[in-house]
Amino acid sequence: MTPPAGPPPRRVELRRVRLPLRHPHITATGTEADRDVVIVRVDEADGAVGWGECSALSAPTYTSEWTDGAWLVLRDHLVPAVLAGRPSGVRGHPMATAAVETARLDAFCRRAGRSLAGHLGAARREVLSCTVVGLGRSVDEVLARVDGAPGPVKIKIAPGWDLEPLAAARAAWPDRFIAADANGTYDLDDPDHARALLALDDLGLAYLEQPTDPADLTAAATAAGRLATPVALDEALDAPGTVRTALALHAAGVVNLKPARLGGPRAALEAASLAAAAGVAVFVGGMLETGVGRAAALAVASVLPGDLPTDLGPSDRYFAHDIVVPAVGAASSAAHVCVPCGSGLGVDVDLERLAACTTDVVELAR
Ligand SMILES: [Mg+2]
Repeated sequence: MTPPAGPPPRRVELRRVRLPLRHPHITATGTEADRDVVIVRVDEADGAVGWGECSALSAPTYTSEWTDGAWLVLRDHLVPAVLAGRPSGVRGHPMATAAVETARLDAFCRRAGRSLAGHLGAARREVLSCTVVGLGRSVDEVLARVDGAPGPVKIKIAPGWDLEPLAAARAAWPDRFIAADANGTYDLDDPDHARALLALDDLGLAYLEQPTDPADLTAAATAAGRLATPVALDEALDAPGTVRTALALHAAGVVNLKPARLGGPRAALEAASLAAAAGVAVFVGGMLETGVGRAAALAVASVLPGDLPTDLGPSDRYFAHDIVVPAVGAASSAAHVCVPCGSGLGVDVDLERLAACTTDVVELAR
């Protein structure tokens, strides 16, 4: 994959955008009712325009990045460095970094008249999609959400809310793809937590995602050693380097490759290569992206080997009215999602809709 080359961009626009979610997204670490993201527009020196999204959440509860912080990092560090044509020197902040990289990749691909998916080496035009079911208030509520989902499902769990909903779902759908995601909330030093995880091992889960503290890869390795269910890592992986460490520790049986969380499409593909070399399965997870980030993540998903479903779904699963046209859509079945195949990201930003959702804007120029 050729990185964007040439002179620095002429200008970069940052837009803070707030888009209501159809349903609040409830996990063990918090609730998101709206998506409050930063959309980056890059105008290259030759006039090519590209778009990227910083998909950090509104509070630093999933990883340490959050929208307010990302806005400042982009405005005061990353974008000035890009405009000056110098390395940023910024450590961390992969989601903010990914936004700029994706915008420049989009411009690069649009200039070349090809899709980002094609540029990355897309092997598929649609991918199987897993519906993520948030923490429910009752087993009946969880079962209703699973019943309404078109295909594979991933159910959010937390200590004290795990075996009951998962066992009920498994009993109702003995052969269905069911995974679980604990968002890092189990402490193996707590005997109740350790027992609770072991109790999930007979449910035939496709994988158990991020059972333990993302900051402690040895805990994930211990969980992976105790469980027959593959342990997937999500929050713990914030760069290809942490993927390499996790693989060396045998802490991951599955790698959740979120391009935003890893620093962009190139970092995600580098992480995918590391996982492939270790014989570890991968899939692209979701960050409740708007259509801009969703299209970029689907381009990465279209390249990956294996048959694990992505967490990415069609736009209308999340938003009544996305900021891109056409909206990212379902494919040959409601359980599949189409990989946008137009130029660049494969979708265009709806400028009117974008303006209507904008809560702050700043323009930086050379
Ligand atoms: Mg997760």
